[in-house]
Order: sequence, then C-alpha cells, then structure tokens
Amino acid sequence: MRDIESSAAINSIIDALLVPAGAPGIFGRTEIFERTIEGLNRLITDRRESGAEVFTFPPVMSRSLLETAGYLKSFPHLLGCVSCLSGDEPHIRGLVEKADWVDALGATDLVLTPAACYPIYPLVAARGVMRNAGRSFDVSSYCFRRESTHEAGRLQSFRMREHVCIGTPELALQFRQRWITRAEAIAQELALPYQVAPASDPFFGRMGKLMAMSQVEQALKFEMLIPVLSREQPTACMSFNYHLEHFSEIWDLRTEDGALAHTTCVAFGLERLALALFATHGITIANWPATTRAALGL
Ligand code: 5GP
Ligand code: ZN
Repeated sequence: MRDIESSAAINSIIDALLVPAGAPGIFGRTEIFERTIEGLNRLITDRRESGAEVFTFPPVMSRSLLETAGYLKSFPHLLGCVSCLSGDEPHIRGLVEKADWVDALGATDLVLTPAACYPIYPLVAARGVMRNAGRSFDVSSYCFRRESTHEAGRLQSFRMREHVCIGTPELALQFRQRWITRAEAIAQELALPYQVAPASDPFFGRMGKLMAMSQVEQALKFEMLIPVLSREQPTACMSFNYHLEHFSEIWDLRTEDGALAHTTCVAFGLERLALALFATHGITIANWPATTRAALGL
C-alpha cells in the first residue's frame, strides 16, 4: 500500500480526479474517475442475487414519502429540500431582480434523495402483501446530504448503490451476512485494506446520541472502513444496516403469514470506494495490481 499518511496525499489525488464545481463537497468527475466507478458498478452487479429487482431512482424524491419514513426525526440536519419560485412572469421577474430573491423561494413537494433505499419501501407497500418470503432489490441513486464538514471523501452529492431485502427476520439477517461476505471478497479482489466494524448513524441532537448507542448495542449497523484520508482513521465506504421493523411498521410491509417484515440494506458509496482505490494504489492505473485492474476492467 502506498503512503497515505498525510492529507496532502489525498488532496493531490482529489485534484487529479475531481474538478471543483464552486461549492464545498461538490465536484465534477474526470473520465478516469468515472471509468473506475463503472468498474465498481459492474463488480457489484456481478454479485447481485438472482431474482433481485433493479431500479435506478432520480436524485430527488417525494417530500411526503420521506416525511412519512421518519427522516425528519432522525436526520433533519442533513436534508435538502427543493425550493422554487412560483407565479406569473411579471411576478417572478420582479422577484429575481431583487437582491433578496432567495427569500421568495417556496418549498416544493420534492426533497433531495438522502439514501438510495428510501423510495423502495413505499413502492413495495403499494403492491400489498409480499407473496414470496423475501424480496430483494438493487437500487441506485445520486444522494444529497447537507454535511457540515467537507474533509476529503465527504461529498454533499454522491452516488449510492444499495441492495435491500424485505422479508422474515431470518431472511433479512442472512441477506446482510451474505453481503458482508461478498463485500469482503470485493475488497480482497481489489487489494483494498479493510475492516468491518460496528457503527451508528449520525442521528440528530441529544436523543440522537441515545439512538446511536442503542444501534451499536443491537448490532444494527456495520461499516466497511477503508483508508482514504489516513490509515489510522479509515473511511466508511460501505454500510450493512438492519432496520428491524422500522420501515415495515411505517409502510405496513407484511410477509405472507401476516407478520411485519424485517428489512436490511447494504450500501456502497461509489465515490468513496473509487477514492479508496486511488488512495491505496496511486493515481496511475497502469501501476495498480493486475488483479485490481482485471476486476474493474481497467
Ligand atoms: P450511510 O447510509 O450508511 O450513512 O451511507 C452509506 C454509504 O454512503 C457510506 O458507507 C458511504 O460510502 C457513502 N456516504 C455516506 N455519506 C457520504 C458522504 O458524505 N460523502 C461520500 N462521498 N459518501 C458518503
Ligand atoms: Zn438503505
């Protein structure tokens, strides 16, 4: 592994692969960065479970669906809402000519999607009782989070690929375990140093600290940590989440026997995985290990 002791190393990698787009944590992607993401996507697709339904969602979603999902209780500080001007032409023209036109924006029925799996639960609920014991989904979306810090690898806008299982508790947990094993195999194939560790979500406020503690106690979330910024403080590049009945209670997701389903989701942060590859193997793909290049088709 290369020396990624200093933040200068990751900053030079970011300078070579991403182009600043005028706001913190917002970047354009270079061709080589995108080819790496394509390779990662293929690798993840190759491991998709048979029978999984595949959906790509847009970077915005219904505000009311996200409200119903309880997002405002857990992560109001990360949410972005789409606001627009409305009215006829003279009205809008008058507004934008003023310095304080931003004050005239009104919230719409859309929010920026904060995680790729949120749209899937209401979609499945609308179909009624699940006939199969467990269903799995492969979903992807651009995601937005209004992060307060902008260290390397923390982007406000990034792509997430998720594998979701809705089924009995046993099936949901087995699904998560299978994906932990597959994710470890992917990291090994890519010659990435990793560890899988218990984790918690960045829940809002004082109550959030308690929620985070309980999440760790119940082993509801694990992350795959890979060095991006430094070896000592590796970055979460994937997460493996068990929601118990959280989403099923909200959406009344039931298995054939009438019981509330349990859900799990496994998330791959594509930009972070790509940055981890460049941080580990260097900026020049020709110098990467042959196995890594072959796995990514680079
Ligand atoms: P989670 O829903 O577990 O917070 O996030 C799932 C995955 O999305 C993380 O493991 C990570 O790879 C990616 N992710 C989360 N937040 C950020 C972020 O601020 N920037 C980037 N680039 N990726 C993120
Ligand atoms: Zn998810």
